[in-house]
Amino acid sequence: MSKNHIYNYRLIFVCFFIFGEILFHFGGSFFQSAGSNYQLRESLFHFGGSLHAQPLGNQQTLPNAAPAFRKVKYDRWGQLNKPTQEDSLFDRVLDQIVAGMSIEEKVGQMTQIDLGVIAKGEPCALKQPVELDPEKLRVAIEKYHVGSILNVGCGSGELNLEEWKRIVTGIKRAEKQGSYLENKKTHIPIIYGIDAIHGANYTTGATLFPQQIAQAATWNPEMVQKAAAATAREVRASGLDWNFSPVVDLARQPLWSRYFETFGEDVFLNQVLVGSMISGYQGVHGINFMNSSKQISSDAVAACLKHFLGYGMPLSGKDRTPAWIPERELREYYLPGFQKAIQTGAMTLMINSGEINGTPVHINYDILTTLLRKELNFKGIAVTDWEDIYKLHHTHKVAASLEEAVKLAINAGVDMSMTPNDYQFTKILIKLVNNQEVPMWRIDEAVKRILRVKHKTGIYLDAESKQVFNVFDYVNLNNIGSIENPSSLSEKQSVSSDKVRSLSEKQPNSNESQSTSSRTLSGSTESQPSSTDWILNSTDEHQKLALSIAEESITLLKNENNALPLKSSQKILLFGNAAHSMNLLNGAWTHTWQGDDSRYQISKNPATPTLYQALKQQHAQVVCLFDSVSGKSDSIALNSQAFGSKKYWKLLDKIVGADAVAVLSIGEKPGTEIPGNIHDLNIDVSESDKQLWAYFKRRNIPVILVLNTGRPRIVTSLVEQSDAVIQAYLSGDFGGKAIANTLLGLNNPSGKLPYTYPRFAGDIVHYDHKHTEKNDTKFGKTAYNPLFDFGHGLSYTEFKYENLSVIPQQLPRTIDDKTILEKKSSESQQSGTLNQSSNSAEFPIKSKNNSPSGTLNQNSNSAKITSAENEKSIPLQDVDLNSITKNWETYGYTVDIDVTNTGKVAGREVVQIYASDLFASITPSDKRLIAFQKTPVLQPGETLHLRLFFGIEQLSFIHKDLKRVVEKGDFEIRVNQLKQTIYFPENIEFH
Ligand code: BGC
Repeated sequence: MSKNHIYNYRLIFVCFFIFGEILFHFGGSFFQSAGSNYQLRESLFHFGGSLHAQPLGNQQTLPNAAPAFRKVKYDRWGQLNKPTQEDSLFDRVLDQIVAGMSIEEKVGQMTQIDLGVIAKGEPCALKQPVELDPEKLRVAIEKYHVGSILNVGCGSGELNLEEWKRIVTGIKRAEKQGSYLENKKTHIPIIYGIDAIHGANYTTGATLFPQQIAQAATWNPEMVQKAAAATAREVRASGLDWNFSPVVDLARQPLWSRYFETFGEDVFLNQVLVGSMISGYQGVHGINFMNSSKQISSDAVAACLKHFLGYGMPLSGKDRTPAWIPERELREYYLPGFQKAIQTGAMTLMINSGEINGTPVHINYDILTTLLRKELNFKGIAVTDWEDIYKLHHTHKVAASLEEAVKLAINAGVDMSMTPNDYQFTKILIKLVNNQEVPMWRIDEAVKRILRVKHKTGIYLDAESKQVFNVFDYVNLNNIGSIENPSSLSEKQSVSSDKVRSLSEKQPNSNESQSTSSRTLSGSTESQPSSTDWILNSTDEHQKLALSIAEESITLLKNENNALPLKSSQKILLFGNAAHSMNLLNGAWTHTWQGDDSRYQISKNPATPTLYQALKQQHAQVVCLFDSVSGKSDSIALNSQAFGSKKYWKLLDKIVGADAVAVLSIGEKPGTEIPGNIHDLNIDVSESDKQLWAYFKRRNIPVILVLNTGRPRIVTSLVEQSDAVIQAYLSGDFGGKAIANTLLGLNNPSGKLPYTYPRFAGDIVHYDHKHTEKNDTKFGKTAYNPLFDFGHGLSYTEFKYENLSVIPQQLPRTIDDKTILEKKSSESQQSGTLNQSSNSAEFPIKSKNNSPSGTLNQNSNSAKITSAENEKSIPLQDVDLNSITKNWETYGYTVDIDVTNTGKVAGREVVQIYASDLFASITPSDKRLIAFQKTPVLQPGETLHLRLFFGIEQLSFIHKDLKRVVEKGDFEIRVNQLKQTIYFPENIEFH
């Protein structure tokens, strides 16, 4: 090679480098320019996971240069998710199936259409009762080979079980017939996805649980898991396999219309609950699930993480408007939930409809491929959100044509397109592949991921024969080489290819010619046997669970002079728009997409009463001050007067009596996505409710405020005037009962806020704010002054915290941290160890002598490190650093604490552990949640000794070079009013 050549290459390299830097500085990180070549971008940016690690400015070493970080292995979130031998065999099976497919079949697998496309009527206005249109179905299956169907005709409304049965069995029959007619070697069933957001909300009669934000307020991962498992059972009973849930987006922008669909504002709480929900839906979890041929059980569904990445933080608060999130913040706040979810084995993920830093995520190769596939090792399906490929052209304007839109999206890493109302995508993609504008390997990769998920969901379970099919039944196993015992790869029984053939031969048209066009499919046949028993299972058990979750979520924000619980002698004067409304209890994604259909406003089922009906069921004396209900004579008499007239107030004077209490129950108009957009956080309270409120205040009647909101709406002046305030969130079908039970003292509230409740509409500061956010106008430190803090929630009893002790430990780690609960003194309950988490028995309890500080408190008398005054620093002094630096991830701290119920009634507490990094190179947060545990019910006088563990990654943050690090120094650990400082001895970087 000549010198000239070398210079030329150097010049090219320098140009490339400068070009890359320009892209970085102008586009922010995760930059994607529409139309740029993805392979080029990879070579520019993909260096070991950190996309842009070049330091800015002067490169000379300065005396105060950043300290070195010792690199340590970090396996907690699945980076070492290596394929097993079984996985490579399974991979080869999938490869073989893909190799046998035509381009039309492959692109068909990547196409997802709405039910409206194959049902009678218009796509968004289905004919009632809903029925398949055999001709449309034939086109979908035989012409376009669609791989997936979703939902219910633009979210227009729920279907009853009979309708689901007709639809699902019709589709299964048609697809099998299509395969047979085309003499396909491989019959790949359609996967049906649904938004079962808080229960199977598109199936009539399903159990409607509280929305995700309410579930977060329980701080109870086991309950969240159980609710997800129950939802999965009901979704499966409807014949469907795939649930577009959970929402993993972090709620840092309360204006956002989908706040209620999240687990709140905190990174750690979100991670834990997302993990629980996925385990509940899929019935299996674990780092290796996606790496094996294992299938989920027949009452589980595939989970779908939404919406990757950064969707929940539009700057304006309006849905699907621009987000501006630097990569460091993306990694610090928005990514960990997805990391945890992928580690938990989530099978699918939906892409953020919006843009980040100017680039729609649907064309962002750096996010969809470099980050998602290469760094996080996600093996499942990445599906677009609704019509989002077309929107690249129509709305985002980054693609000059639909062709360009499809090309950009597929080349960036999209596997499946929720088209969802036509086949343009399908036709365009076939053309692009034929013209080599989208490489075939990209299509094969996407189809393989789809097949992997289909196999795992077990949708090969045959409806008619009740025999189990899976991918192994459809390939010639002799060609796969070293697989000796293919059926052992599947946990389920498999049948031979002959059986597949003979099944197909049972089809009515089996003796007809290969021409498919004239065939009639039996799509709407009603008498098909099913793959489920078609029993909804919205049983007592599910309903009790929904009630318990609603009760556990209820958060008592204020309770002056023990205004609550109400006494049975008190007359309740009930008013407000949510007092007698199921729609306001449930919110969106309830029966219909927006949840605002007036047909569902009042429940006809006594098991799911409104608040008004629930109070009456409990025989409370209730007078309703709204006119939509005829109840007791007082209500009738009152509501027959013109509101606000002299007669009205006079009559009210009479009705109120001596021992009355007023309850104002207000709610948000149901809504989600763009239709749910609001302009500010203030909430509308009707004029008549304001007048009633003022009347009760004038008469010194205690006023209780019940909030049925999916986010912190500003109600500061009402709260200040209230005697008690209950945050009930969107509590679902059993919310009326749960609120009534709480008002009447049948439920002692234990919910805690999963977000910070602002005092003023424009003052959105999170609990994990930076120290500068405390600076007030008088140069003091009081500016952080929310109405209620994150984690706040009162009880009808009180709890005392004592004997905090934080000790470094090396512990065997699993995905889930373990907790030991030990009741210390109880007259009413047995003492001994209470294992809350299933595997807590394995947790090594260190004896007092093993503790470096000697202060591990097994009994309450030995407590010493308990308060701010007694603060003491505990270094990792007894630990041999050289022996542990190779596996830092197995290190952490135990936190021991005693919690005593000092009140008069039984109750549960959520023990919350926060850490503050006192000094760090990236401005540290005031505090961060690092562990929590909900206690069992503690009787009055009872003390619980609680031991929690947190791993050292809980002390970490994302460094300026985009790596996760822990910097040496002091950390303050806070539990309630107690705190202890620990010293961490080394700078470490996780990789
Ligand atoms: C929403 C998704 C939902 C999808 C299918 C979209 O508009 O953003 O969360 O899963 O529709 O209904």
